[in-house]
Amino acid sequence: MRVPFLDLAGVHRPIQRELMDALGKAIEGNEFILGPSVGDFEEAFAAYVGRRHCVALSSGTAALHLASLAVDMGPGDEVITTPFTWISTSWAISYCGATPVFADVEPTTGNLDPESVRSRITDRTRAILCVDLYGNPARLDTLSRIAASHGLALIDDACQAHGSQLLGRPVGSFGDLACFSFYPGKNLGALGEGGAVVTDDPSTAARLRSLRDHAQQGRHNHSEIGFNYRMEGFQGAALKVKLRRLDEWNAARSRAADFYLRSLSEIAGICLPAVTPGAESNWHLFVIHVADRDRLKDQLAERGIETLVHYPTPVHLQPAYSHLGYVRGDLPIAELASDTCLSLPISPVITPTEQRYVVETLAELLDRETPFPVEPILATESA
Ligand SMILES: *Cc1c(COP(=O)(O)O)cnc(C)c1O
Repeated sequence: MRVPFLDLAGVHRPIQRELMDALGKAIEGNEFILGPSVGDFEEAFAAYVGRRHCVALSSGTAALHLASLAVDMGPGDEVITTPFTWISTSWAISYCGATPVFADVEPTTGNLDPESVRSRITDRTRAILCVDLYGNPARLDTLSRIAASHGLALIDDACQAHGSQLLGRPVGSFGDLACFSFYPGKNLGALGEGGAVVTDDPSTAARLRSLRDHAQQGRHNHSEIGFNYRMEGFQGAALKVKLRRLDEWNAARSRAADFYLRSLSEIAGICLPAVTPGAESNWHLFVIHVADRDRLKDQLAERGIETLVHYPTPVHLQPAYSHLGYVRGDLPIAELASDTCLSLPISPVITPTEQRYVVETLAELLDRETPFPVEPILATESA
């Protein structure tokens, strides 16, 4: 049996006709860059995440960059962020000439630890940039309070968290701005690159719209240094179709996650993912922790099970950030999480048969393992 990490073609197959119609209309209407379909999608997505404005962009990385510019992040500023993420989170800070300051993460969820954030606030701190890792919301309520009490901006990198909720509120509605990616493999993915920033502030939204389109105020008049970060018409057209399916797809992922949580809880060598208290995850990824991750990954691959690692090297130890002077041991929880994490196949179209095969294979491979040695450091808090 072969279990793919994510069968994207299987996700698209039932809506292929609808997608082709939407792309056909975009061609007919010369909607190649921005245009009415992108505008319609912006309106629908803003409503979906409970915000007044959505500005559609060319990628999640572009969204993080413009959101960072929108809070006037610049040289001399420090921005507290997580080292346990896709690297775009800290790119945004660096693009603005500011300095990422890495805080450690919670052992249970891998999300930013609010206490670690608090301990890194200085006179130079300008903002907190958190991530909803694997789709599980960060402690956005606590981080909002910390940001407010120190006069800092809060940007939420919600690039993995379309449809997640915290305390009954959609992720995307927390913080000054929230950023989304529509990279094809995300829970809401375009047919290519895409991203968005959402906010409630009309003047911020207007500046973002300007920045994405060369900061052009009237033809050939540029008010500041701008960018070409516009969303393509095709992507807006496709995303409009796919947004209508998002809740249904997330519900299917949630059922798959429940199945894993129930059936893997018996296996001693596995540490299961925890959900933030008061949150609902969209289960973008289902990440377990095991002692000998690389060996297990190879053994699963030999048996036809495709897994991935999110993320094998924490950002503070990336060569690109060697100039910041971090060393192994500085952020022990993030480092341990990087060494032991393994992402199992999950998607809206994974079948019970496929999941049973994954579970049985893990049980067989980990049967003789001693219990996960770093428990209770990476303990399961809630499941
Ligand atoms: C995917 C992702 C991004 C970047 O999005 P792109 O659309 O690929 O540029 C940023 N942050 C996180 C946490 C992501 O998962």
